[in-house]
Amino acid sequence: MKKKKTIKTIKIDVDKCNGCRACEVICSAFHAVPRYSSNNSQRSRIRVIHDPIRDIYVPVYAGEYTPAECAGRDKYTIDGKEYEECAFCRASCPSRDLFKEPDSGLPLKCDMCESDPTLDEPMCVKWCITDALTYEEREEEVDEDEPLEELDVGLEALANKHGMQKILDAVQRMSKKD
Ligand code: SF4
Ligand code: SF4
Repeated sequence: MKKKKTIKTIKIDVDKCNGCRACEVICSAFHAVPRYSSNNSQRSRIRVIHDPIRDIYVPVYAGEYTPAECAGRDKYTIDGKEYEECAFCRASCPSRDLFKEPDSGLPLKCDMCESDPTLDEPMCVKWCITDALTYEEREEEVDEDEPLEELDVGLEALANKHGMQKILDAVQRMSKKD
């Protein structure tokens, strides 16, 4: 059985990013408990990769957790600038500190601002004054049970890596924060 699903896309124009990190600030503040009570880029689900020598800023969204890092590293040259493969990678992986919750080490993932219905666009897009981030929605037909499978696989991978008790402890700690 097919159903309509809204596909939410944030487009990134690296040439427009000036490295202000407003996106990191607002994302971490939005996810603070209580909301907006603190900010810390390390808790942000978008991070700006910066290489001052090559004048590179790449905003990257936190994606899936992966239990193993890549064996090789490709390089990309775009408009004469050389990028490491990791610069575009969204994974929380064992070989770097990006997209890990600093207290528990658990992986972070962009959740589109918890799909908050009061927002007309994600907070990071709202706060990006250079329009390096822009938001788009479109309708697609998908199988009805698709999202559940994704959740199961994600939970299983997390439990394998960290142990279910650690995950439960972290969830309990987060829900108690004031
Ligand atoms: S808010 Fe926009 S310009 Fe600033 S760092 Fe984030 S993506 Fe770049
Ligand atoms: S869409 Fe929301 S959750 Fe995702 S990175 Fe932007 S502010 Fe954070």
